[in-house]
Amino acid sequence: APRPLIAGNWKMHMTLVEGAKLVDALGMALAEATPKPACDIAVCPPFTLLAPLSEACQKYGFGLGGQDCHAEAKGAFTGDVAAGMLADIGCTHVIVGHSERRSLHEESNADVKAKAAAALAARLTAILCVGETESERDSGKAEEIVVAQLLASLPDGATAANMVVAYEPVWAIGTGRTPTVAQVAAMHKAIRAALDGKVGDPAGMRILYGGSVKPGNAKELLSVENVDGALVGGASLVSADFWAICSTC
Ligand code: 13P
Repeated sequence: APRPLIAGNWKMHMTLVEGAKLVDALGMALAEATPKPACDIAVCPPFTLLAPLSEACQKYGFGLGGQDCHAEAKGAFTGDVAAGMLADIGCTHVIVGHSERRSLHEESNADVKAKAAAALAARLTAILCVGETESERDSGKAEEIVVAQLLASLPDGATAANMVVAYEPVWAIGTGRTPTVAQVAAMHKAIRAALDGKVGDPAGMRILYGGSVKPGNAKELLSVENVDGALVGGASLVSADFWAICSTC
């Protein structure tokens, strides 16, 4: 199984002082831990905090990710940020296709695919998010729907080295609700199967679970077959909680 990745998606939270404190607290916890957690750790702060946190993340060995990027390399796109600009200031990762971008900014699968391709072209690791809504889950077709979304969002040239999939059921994001272990297992198995023949090293591609991951449920969720890490929202804003999640690895 691939080495897990625990990534914190800070969303639109944190001042510079708060963000720097959080990264330092995590770095300190990592330095003092024996043994070290057997996972890679990344944080995805808002754009404004990426450059100022870049040096600390590099020092501690944390990945640093943007939460979105534009599909084009440059141009007249007021308010947008190119993947190459993220790489330029030390980012290693970028989230694309988060459900909040898909719903609140009406990003289509084609948009997400173009953004993921831009991420790969900039040599960033794309964290490609997919997930079903509650009504899609209730329809009994969640796996087919998510697999279709994934395949339509998948950029050319994706490999285990440059892309991570994050399965985030929309109804589990920020709600405190999580799918059952059986539902997670079935979805991650379906995603793994769908990657076969479509990406380089499908068995090595990390498939993260995201949606109300907390210290209290992380161990159970991360022990599910084909769950290779977590994308953590709310609990990534509290250093002790995020560290506790990392420590389950
Ligand atoms: P929560 O962990 O707050 O549910 O958010 C999940 C998420 O959207 C991570 O990208």
